[in-house]
Amino acid sequence: KPVVAIVGRPNVGKSTIFNRLVGERISIVEDIPGVTRDRIYAQAEWLAHQFDLIDTGGIEIGDEPLLNQMRQQAEVAIDEADVIIFMINGREGVTAADEEVAKMLFKSSKPIVLAVNKMDNPEMRNEVYEYYSLGFGEPFPISGSHGLGLGDMLDEVVGHFPVFETRDDDEETIYFSLIGRPNVGKSSLVNALLNEERVIVSDIEGTTRDAIDTRLIRDGQEYVITDTAGMRKRGKVYETTEKYSVMRALKAIDRSDVVLVLLDAETGIREQDKKIAGYAHEAGRAVIIVVNKWDAVERDEKTMKEFEEKVRAHFQYLDYAPIVFLSAKTKKRLHTLLPAIRTASENHAKRIQTSVLNDVIMDALAVNPTPTVKGKRLKVFYAAQVAIKPPSFAVFVNDPELMHFSYQRFLENRIREAFSFTGTPIKIFARKRQ
Ligand code: GDP
Repeated sequence: KPVVAIVGRPNVGKSTIFNRLVGERISIVEDIPGVTRDRIYAQAEWLAHQFDLIDTGGIEIGDEPLLNQMRQQAEVAIDEADVIIFMINGREGVTAADEEVAKMLFKSSKPIVLAVNKMDNPEMRNEVYEYYSLGFGEPFPISGSHGLGLGDMLDEVVGHFPVFETRDDDEETIYFSLIGRPNVGKSSLVNALLNEERVIVSDIEGTTRDAIDTRLIRDGQEYVITDTAGMRKRGKVYETTEKYSVMRALKAIDRSDVVLVLLDAETGIREQDKKIAGYAHEAGRAVIIVVNKWDAVERDEKTMKEFEEKVRAHFQYLDYAPIVFLSAKTKKRLHTLLPAIRTASENHAKRIQTSVLNDVIMDALAVNPTPTVKGKRLKVFYAAQVAIKPPSFAVFVNDPELMHFSYQRFLENRIREAFSFTGTPIKIFARKRQ
């Protein structure tokens, strides 16, 4: 998760901004007590980007002179942050201490967002241009006390986030796992996959008490399968408890781009299946529903369709997930699974060009005009993709309150129809155009 640090002289308004970001514009997920007593961390979120926010202002180092303290704060930020918000007081201009810190930040390779605070009214906004001379690009006028300009500043901040979540592996590898209640056939399916003819199992690594990662290659694509089966050795009784399956599922989901939700065709859908599937959905992962033990059901030409309808009715929120019917035992249709995983993973990481996206949005607006709520009409200006895994889109509007759920759903469907997003959820947010 990216770390964002706020750096600046005392009294430029760092903690006001910190509290405001945490309290209002970004939703705080959880407070984490700082590693040191006076460092202030919070988990924050802006436009589907989650990050940790640090206020370095809390770091006070004894009776050190101001400049030394500021240097140390800047060092902490440079060491720990992915993006640094350098805040100055627009009413006081650039002081010697500001310049000193600016030099340090400038030498670091970290992206710096320059925030000019205490720009409380619009007339003052023009004054910020003199701060271009600091060399950090566009200065962002903000007002902590009035809560102005924070959205633009945060857009810039998240724009500097690393695109891919850092994992100790290259981006080409697809991480997947299998989840499902006990005895749906998870272990059997893992074994079947690893023994598939066209699959090369290159090595087994990272064997821990909880999970075994296995690397496999098929058709030139590398996959890592996380198998939490290692956790089961604690005995049948414990294994069948619900808590156990939940832990196991969450652990697997956490490491995966694509999650296979296994169902048992023989026993049918149970309450526990729905809970487990819900976790994968909520985590925003790509999902494939696998109906295992298809060999064990008596079937005619309608059986598959009927089962599919049942799955759709029980897992409505997973309407984007393809359903694969197979048998780990007879290996029937097993060969379709890895290609399905690959497609879902590609869609999960897909980027849509802004111009193409906006063509689709404009078409959608033409087909189905925006709603009017209490005499006020929703205006949609444009849309932009702001994240992948899952693909997330910000729709810039006159007033987000006017974006009715059903209209949002309509736009989502249009985006889905225009681009192939099979296997992945997508997210849409209405945002006020500043
Ligand atoms: P897990 O608890 O989800 O890992 O499930 P297992 O892989 O241990 O399988 C549970 C039981 O289902 C075992 O007795 C397997 O032999 C059986 N099983 C697994 N896959 C299939 C399948 O495709 N068809 C049939 N008929 N039985 C299967």
